[in-house]
Amino acid sequence: MKCKYCNGKAVIYVRRTRTPLCPSHLEEYLIKNVVKVFKHYRIDLSNKKILIALSGGKDSSTMASLMKKLSEVEDFEVVGLYIDLGIPKYSDYSLKAVEKLSRSLDLEVRTINLREALGFNISDTGFKRRTICSACGIIKRYLMNYAALVDGCQIIATGHTLDDITAYILKSYITQDLKSLVKLGVYNPPLNKLIPGKVKPLGYVSEKESLVYVLSSNYPFYHEECPYVSHETIEFQAKRFLNMVEAKHPGIKLYMLREYEKNRQLYEKLVEYPPLRRCKICGMPSQREVCSFCSIVKRITGSYDSVLKMWENNFLRII
Ligand SMILES: [Zn+2]
Ligand SMILES: [Zn+2]
Repeated sequence: MKCKYCNGKAVIYVRRTRTPLCPSHLEEYLIKNVVKVFKHYRIDLSNKKILIALSGGKDSSTMASLMKKLSEVEDFEVVGLYIDLGIPKYSDYSLKAVEKLSRSLDLEVRTINLREALGFNISDTGFKRRTICSACGIIKRYLMNYAALVDGCQIIATGHTLDDITAYILKSYITQDLKSLVKLGVYNPPLNKLIPGKVKPLGYVSEKESLVYVLSSNYPFYHEECPYVSHETIEFQAKRFLNMVEAKHPGIKLYMLREYEKNRQLYEKLVEYPPLRRCKICGMPSQREVCSFCSIVKRITGSYDSVLKMWENNFLRII
């Protein structure tokens, strides 16, 4: 199969647009989709510093590469962040992939090591997989905000794809979890200078496109899943189901996301939030007196000392 735009060999057939693409035209197509996200949400990138969240996996490698390329022609800066959670083998191999990616993209990357910053590893947060995963989500979000604030970044970009977002939307429909549903968009604006804006540049890009891109462009990534990931969860099953629907109805995931975005404001009206206050320990926005991050740290270490120490020092290391 030949690329639609040149005589090169196609590495992917994009079913929703019926287009065979070679590696360089696939890159062009993906960059266009990233630009569409920024245009659609009117995100002004000029003179901004963007924190690229790197996990070492394929999707964050794709996102980092596209954002780095875009930053070379546009007027914004990108820096990477890798959070070392201390998961045996998995975190070490992921870090190695991030180091290689940093060199191949010429992207400056910071790491933060959970044990160094707070005195524990992610496996110390619980005995059950579910407890660990929910603590991990809270800790990662908090450390991303910390890194962005310490480093002067206004926006955090994560590697979530169209497949991830639509699976979470479907999960929230199934469980009727409106509070989660309203947060699932491609872009969440900043909150009172303490929480940077969050964007998912691959919101219009599928996992398959991302995988073919990193493989055909030879970008490093670590292919193993986190050992705590479960395939029994609702979101994993929702993803499988949506893949089946997409196979029969190419483009349905993108349609679902766009329709969700149109209705998002309606959902927001249905959700009642307690007024946001400041966590009495760390000062970050929180719905409770003590934020969930500080509560986790207290539960594991017995005190809030390490949170205060983290904010007094800079635990970001450049690799
Ligand atoms: Zn081509
Ligand atoms: Zn707190």
